[in-house]
Amino acid sequence: MILKPHIPTGHASTAVPTVALTIDGKQVTVPSGTVVVDAARSLGITIPVLCHFPKLTTTGACRVCIVEVNGTPTTSCSTIVEEGMEVITNSPYIEGLRRDIIDLILSDHPYDCMVCEKAGSCELQELAYKYGIRTPVFSGERRIYKKRDGNPFIERDMEKCILCGRCVKVCDEVQGVGAIDYAYRGFGTKICPPFERDLDCEFCGQCVAVCPTGALVGKSSLGKGRQRDIKQVETICPYCGCGCNLTLHVSGDEVIRVTSDQQTINEGWLCVKGRFGFNFINSPDRLKTPLIRKNGVLVEASWEEALGTIADRLGAIKKQHGPDAIGGLSSARCTNEENYLFQKFMRAGIGTNNVDHCARL
Ligand code: SF4
Ligand code: SF4
Ligand code: SF4
Repeated sequence: MILKPHIPTGHASTAVPTVALTIDGKQVTVPSGTVVVDAARSLGITIPVLCHFPKLTTTGACRVCIVEVNGTPTTSCSTIVEEGMEVITNSPYIEGLRRDIIDLILSDHPYDCMVCEKAGSCELQELAYKYGIRTPVFSGERRIYKKRDGNPFIERDMEKCILCGRCVKVCDEVQGVGAIDYAYRGFGTKICPPFERDLDCEFCGQCVAVCPTGALVGKSSLGKGRQRDIKQVETICPYCGCGCNLTLHVSGDEVIRVTSDQQTINEGWLCVKGRFGFNFINSPDRLKTPLIRKNGVLVEASWEEALGTIADRLGAIKKQHGPDAIGGLSSARCTNEENYLFQKFMRAGIGTNNVDHCARL
């Protein structure tokens, strides 16, 4: 893992200052400014955390990442390493505190795992399993939200929201939109768009990607299969030349969800087209054969017939009007190789430089 160095403003040297500390008895040296949870990860020590997320600024909301720092309990996601610091991540005392914190989070949570879309990939469910919390000791009042959001892409179930703030941060810090935020106070606090209207935003789905629970899930996958039955297929987004990496989640022969791994060139972030624009794959309106217009009507044809017609027409136009009577328009949805071949065909095959690309339109 690459730990982000902290370089103070005006620092003259290019050398990155480092800090040495001890975590669970192991010595580690990390760049100054590193937070304890990331320093531990560099040693292979995973501290559970629900609000911290790589590439987002610290929230310190869930308290699950509590550790002992020089004997005092503190949150490891918001504590910056110091020289000689001694950190204990897993003492019985710390594990007991952590269990109580998870218990408190679950005390106000619907026990919907049997029907929840997130079951099997839910970070809260994982922690409940790890700490053996079946019925919370602190069970009490529950938030009941009847309203469902009418937006076309994202199912928002705020009863499953643990107020970790990842969605708010990603919408602001990564997407630069700020479509959602904390509203109200105390027990009534909830994440919502302004005035609790239906979500109306860019629908990039970054908030869905970072949500640790089933509070935010894509509507397209609702009720279409458990994670264990879903095949994951790596591919490249067909929509534009950015070439974002996609993971298609395939149930049977249907793509039901698209995600992207953080370790990819696009760092796991996608736009609305890449994340949610896949319904065309299974659309009954999709063309499956070439069409040739005959007497004003488009009729299905074989590829041989279609390519033969194209060759005949291009040849006839070139013969009658010359090669510059023909122009070719290519597409950002094609690969570099396909675009190269296309311009080569126009220049060397047809004999014209009339070639352009939809990205300039
Ligand atoms: S969000 Fe997680 S813990 Fe909550 S019901 Fe869904 S799977 Fe269970
Ligand atoms: S879909 Fe994108 S723009 Fe809309 S709330 Fe989520 S992160 Fe913000
Ligand atoms: S909706 Fe999800 S990401 Fe947003 S605060 Fe709630 S649990 Fe966290």
